Amino acid sequence: SVPAVPILITGGAGFIGSNFVHHWYEQYPGDRIIVLDALTYAGNRQNLADIEGKANLRFVKGDIGDRALIDQLLEEEKIQAIAHFAAESHVDRSIVAPDAFIQTNVVGTFTLLEAFRHHWTKQGKPANYRFLHVSTDEVYGSLELDDPAFTETTPYAPNSPYSASKAGSDHLARAYYHTYGLPTLITNCSNNYGPYHFPEKLIPLICLNILLGKPLPIYGDGLNIRDWLYVADHCRALDIVIHQGKPGETYNIGGNNEIKNIDLVQMICELMDELATDLPVSPANKLITFVKDRPGHDRRYAIDATKIKTELGWEPQQTISTGLRHTIQWYLTHRHWWEALLPKE
Ligand code: NAD
Repeated sequence: SVPAVPILITGGAGFIGSNFVHHWYEQYPGDRIIVLDALTYAGNRQNLADIEGKANLRFVKGDIGDRALIDQLLEEEKIQAIAHFAAESHVDRSIVAPDAFIQTNVVGTFTLLEAFRHHWTKQGKPANYRFLHVSTDEVYGSLELDDPAFTETTPYAPNSPYSASKAGSDHLARAYYHTYGLPTLITNCSNNYGPYHFPEKLIPLICLNILLGKPLPIYGDGLNIRDWLYVADHCRALDIVIHQGKPGETYNIGGNNEIKNIDLVQMICELMDELATDLPVSPANKLITFVKDRPGHDRRYAIDATKIKTELGWEPQQTISTGLRHTIQWYLTHRHWWEALLPKE
């Protein structure tokens, strides 16, 4: 097995990154963790507040595109593994303002790969170094209802500036393995949900709007299908890929939880009716409102996670209903966390 310490976690103040920092600390409490995060609107130092004093953790505010800073961190901290989460991640924002997506997701990933390659070369190209590039199933494009789910060999066909920028970064990570032998690994995961999920994304938005008595906006006809994965299951998968994955390989990670957006929202409404007290509008599904569809809205994503299951023995532990229950309970008990993120009116 691979000694993966000290580890640099980029985007560790974001949604999945901060869950991964918690996961790593719980699994490997003695490990040195370096978090690099630019603290954009999506990054929140509060996501790490409960472990910052306990873990052997150093937080660095900085940009993955800052080559001098990365070189300095890699050397100073003797980094052996990078778990790369930092990205612009919201599809709607990528439609309005794609520039930052190209800069961070493509150029930033390139900068990180290049810096890590030099660092790794200087150390004599140790075989146990790892660069985990965390990516999305959106690079595979959209599925029709009866198409088979995405596998690792499905051709790339990104449809939004977000997914195109992630596709570009995936290709770079792959090329660094094939060209230089750098031990990179790529994971393509379906939609995540769970604690610390920024309120602009569908599941937290619906949960919070129910608590606030606001409309629950659903794009188009609500029949778009997504495959949802509880974030802790994703973090466990990434841990396994870092420790047991084969460099140069891609692993798809999915929850086996395909569900139409409208059914998902109905489920959240029912759970909220059950778990929350004093809802401003009840039953919560009275708040459902259909809104104009997003341009280029992919109809369906579905992940075939057979490879990671058979080769590395990973399987999700949560179903959509157990995962949603945990998530809603988390939002109900972490009011101070999300209230601080609401737009000031
Ligand atoms: P997020 O938007 O919540 O977090 C991104 C983090 O990166 C933030 O903390 C932000 O401050 C930081 N960041 C942004 N630009 C940066 C830069 N230039 N330098 C340093 N830090 C920067 O995103 P997330 O949902 O946690 O996603 C994390 C990764 O996982 C992304 O690469 C995303 O593409 C991928 N992914 C997300 C999902 C999902 O459902 N959320 C699914 C599959 C893959």
